[in-house]
Amino acid sequence: MIKEIISKLNRELPATVKLVAVSKFHPFESIEEAYQAGQKAFGESRPQELLAKVKRLDEVRAERGEPDYMSDIEWHFIGHLQTNKLKMVLPYVSLVQSVDSVRLLEAIDHWGAVNGKVTDVLLECHVAAEESKQGFSEEELIELLSSDAHYANVRICGIMGMATFTDDEPVIRADFKRLLDRQQTLHDRIGKSPNVAAGCNELSMGMSDDYPIAAEMGSTIVRIGSMIFGERI
Ligand SMILES: *Cc1c(COP(=O)(O)O)cnc(C)c1O
Repeated sequence: MIKEIISKLNRELPATVKLVAVSKFHPFESIEEAYQAGQKAFGESRPQELLAKVKRLDEVRAERGEPDYMSDIEWHFIGHLQTNKLKMVLPYVSLVQSVDSVRLLEAIDHWGAVNGKVTDVLLECHVAAEESKQGFSEEELIELLSSDAHYANVRICGIMGMATFTDDEPVIRADFKRLLDRQQTLHDRIGKSPNVAAGCNELSMGMSDDYPIAAEMGSTIVRIGSMIFGERI
């Protein structure tokens, strides 16, 4: 039951950790059910799917004659974002957690300049053993934070990442420690890099299988999907 699991997570997680319910591949009705259990922040990883759900919510509002229905819902984008899909995502999200390249950062900044929106983002950092996982390496992160380029329409709010896909707890802990170090690297640039604002302290790490470890190791945002909504369909 979605409601029971959300209540359990809210009891379990420290007050400093925000729960993002990852609703990708699950229908709008599941989001409504979670919302009714008090869940406000939802994570989506595909532009088309996010847009379909945003539009579905508009339809439901119209059907119910309640323009404010679920008005405090927060959409987080957590998947790979192509620069040609920005207009499907940026108008609707409160946080893009998955900025994985300078090129994407520049594109979001440019979109923001044209459309008059400052977008909050996290820098996705690669620490896991898998080759395929995208994100900034440590060197790329340092290079970005040392550069004089100013992205005035983007607010870098922290770091996002994921651990290696494994049951080996020491490996998971080592990956989370690396993400914590990246967050510290970012924090150290407050007041030095034009792109790092005060309060730049978010650390998004922890999913269904490893969130207790992540919460213990300093995560401020956990992204939990299958534990809440079941296997993805
Ligand atoms: C799918 C996804 C999650 C949620 O994963 P679960 O194992 O279902 O909790 C978290 N973060 C990202 C980036 C994802 O793509």
